[in-house]
Amino acid sequence: MNSHVQLPPVEAAIIDLKARFGTAALTGESIRDLHARDESHHHGQRPDVVVYPKTTQEVADLVAIATRHQVPVVAFGAGSGLEGGAIPVAGGISVDLSGLDAIFEIRADDMIARVGAGVRRLDLNTALRDTGLFFPVDPGANASIGGMVSTGASGTNAVRFGVMRENVLGLTVVTAGGRIVRTGSLARKSSSGYDLTRLFVGAEGTLGVVTEVILRLHPIPEARSAHAGFATLAGAVNAVTDIKRAGLSIGRVELLDQPLVEVVNRHGEMRLEPLPTLFFEFHGATDDIRSLSGTVGEIVAANGGTELTWTAPGSETQTLWTTRRDCLAWAKAERQGAHSWPSDVCVPISRLADVILETREDVAGSDIPAYIVGHVGDGNFHCVFMLRDNEEAEVADYADRIVMRALAAGGTASGEHGVGLGKRKFLITEHGADAVALMHQLKAALDPLGIFNPGKILPDPAPSDLINTPGRTD
Ligand SMILES: Cc1cc2nc3c(=O)[nH]c(=O)nc-3n(C[C@H](O)[C@H](O)[C@H](O)COP(=O)(O)OP(=O)(O)OC[C@H]3O[C@@H](n4cnc5c(N)ncnc54)[C@H](O)[C@@H]3O)c2cc1C
Repeated sequence: MNSHVQLPPVEAAIIDLKARFGTAALTGESIRDLHARDESHHHGQRPDVVVYPKTTQEVADLVAIATRHQVPVVAFGAGSGLEGGAIPVAGGISVDLSGLDAIFEIRADDMIARVGAGVRRLDLNTALRDTGLFFPVDPGANASIGGMVSTGASGTNAVRFGVMRENVLGLTVVTAGGRIVRTGSLARKSSSGYDLTRLFVGAEGTLGVVTEVILRLHPIPEARSAHAGFATLAGAVNAVTDIKRAGLSIGRVELLDQPLVEVVNRHGEMRLEPLPTLFFEFHGATDDIRSLSGTVGEIVAANGGTELTWTAPGSETQTLWTTRRDCLAWAKAERQGAHSWPSDVCVPISRLADVILETREDVAGSDIPAYIVGHVGDGNFHCVFMLRDNEEAEVADYADRIVMRALAAGGTASGEHGVGLGKRKFLITEHGADAVALMHQLKAALDPLGIFNPGKILPDPAPSDLINTPGRTD
């Protein structure tokens, strides 16, 4: 029961939160501003209060208070999301998970780590340095592990090591009413019961707050890196498709289109032929890499590519991968007052070249700079627009067309950034009304009051006629 019946629910909740969390429950404007937005193009919205819990039990207490007063609970990891997932569009409580930053266990023999949701991925890899192991999922930002779980993140390493779904073995989640649920186990696989772990991976905080994560670790591979330019964008993409079809295992393969390579040449340390370019990483012992890269080199040449240019181990190789990381920031800096809008789609690899080329053709007529970059080994690419505020409507049209193109090719509206705010409108087109109705049913079962991150993922309003379909007898 609400004990502050005369107050609006959120104000009553703030009183209870301050009583429970003291100075870890904050209502100052600057702290609310910090939690009003993420790194996306979506407009911010302040939460009413920001709370910094330190333990799973504290998150459970917070959710119990939110439940009592029926106010929204929006998890905030590192705020690096690109689809507005952490924006509290209905106000309420922003739960900043940064205090859950303990690395509880590193079980090197089992190649497993158990960490708090607030641990940043780079900090985890620093802690793992002496074990010979690493956690491979690498979104460009130094995201929190809980945020990466919740967006189903991936990155340049996914083509070899998989995405979050493949690298999360178990979770601790605070669910409706403050109930603490543990999913999964320390085993590397399981066929026991419904797979609750994967239900929460990619749920963007709409089903509960993740507080602990059991992760798969991998041995740090021996690696060599190289790059190759291509006469055409189609050649670069087709080379990747051919490499995949040949069953060759690549550590990483990343595409930069020609405009982005020109940006690199203007700002970075690397000097590249101004051509669509692939960055490669090969894994294995020296002989294995020699044989693998020989075959890859032949495929590259057959698709109009240059010879592979190898980078020396150490700083030159590091420069190649920091160039990949930083090139879009350089492109943004070239246009005064610009911010970026990265589209993110994933298609079957056989359709990748078509979809990328159609996208390039579509944006060619615009004055807004747009760059294509991608984890193309997975069929995942981004067309990143550097736009000014008055150009949002134009970019929204391009971005929508990119998604529709990907869906028509049998792909998905989001390969790795999630649905958040911007992609909700595509959910029914992608999954069908019946599947979306089932998602609404799951949401209603796990979050009956609708307090976990309202306004995200699921289209609004719910297709209520379909929600009732499975139980109908008429
Ligand atoms: C420069 C740059 C490059 C990027 N490159 C990539 C890339 O290559 N691949 C990729 O996948 N992403 C990429 N991203 C996007 C971003 O880093 C990922 O989406 C990341 O997983 C978000 O983590 P976060 O901790 O910042 O989460 P936030 O932005 O804080 O939150 C993201 C979503 O998860 C929810 N959430 C956060 N923590 C929890 C929790 N503990 N429990 C429940 N829900 C939670 C939030 O409510 C929100 O819905 C990039 C971002 C930037 C800025």
